[in-house]
Amino acid sequence: MSEPRVCGKPTRNGKACGQVLGDSARECIWHGTSVTDADRSAIARLGGLSQIRVLPAETAPADVFTARGLLKRLQLIEHAVVTGTLAPEVGKAAAYTLSVAKGVAELMVHARLRELEERVDGQRAGRVRV
Ligand SMILES: [Zn+2]
Repeated sequence: MSEPRVCGKPTRNGKACGQVLGDSARECIWHGTSVTDADRSAIARLGGLSQIRVLPAETAPADVFTARGLLKRLQLIEHAVVTGTLAPEVGKAAAYTLSVAKGVAELMVHARLRELEERVDGQRAGRVRV
């Protein structure tokens, strides 16, 4: 069996590009002159995402500031994973992100609570002085 034909153009790290070429191609999409940077970005994005099952790009961002919003998104992720429309690794990454968002939202609640406690304490101190 013969070795596959590769692009061979120099890459950023100085090594020869190892992209396998089709029968008629003289250079790969990364080093070809007819492909724009925008095309390359789109190809990279779609190429990466087409390898795994993801939710549609038009899926609305999760409402991470409310319990209802977090639960709604977790329900969507769980359903999508068990029905096979979302890759488990993507579901896991999304759930982890939601967990981090929940932690940040908790910190915001604690900060607000402390602010209110300080305000109440300040009002009490003010009353004592009168
Ligand atoms: Zn190349």
